[in-house]
Amino acid sequence: MATRDRFRFCADPKCAALFLARGPQAYCHPRCSQAVRTRTYRGEVRAPQETEAAEKRERFRRSRREAYKQKLRRGGMKVQEYGRREL
Ligand SMILES: [Zn+2]
Repeated sequence: MATRDRFRFCADPKCAALFLARGPQAYCHPRCSQAVRTRTYRGEVRAPQETEAAEKRERFRRSRREAYKQKLRRGGMKVQEYGRREL
C-alpha cells in the first residue's frame, strides 16, 4: 500500500491534535474541518485580503463621518427641515 501516512498537527488551531494523516488530510477529524469552515463563515477567521478591505471601508466611513461633522460645525446642514415634515 503506497499511502503517504505521516503524523501531522490538525489544521484547526483550536484542536491542533497530532494525528496520522492519510494523503492530503489536514484535519484529525471531519468535525475539525467543519468547525474551521463554520468559524470562517461567521467571520471569526478572515482571509487577509478581506481584513484589508474591511479596514479600507472603515477608514472611508471615518473620513465621511469627519466631513459630516465639519459640515455641521460650519452650519451647512440646516436643522429647520424638522419642522415642516409632511406625513
Ligand atoms: Zn482536530
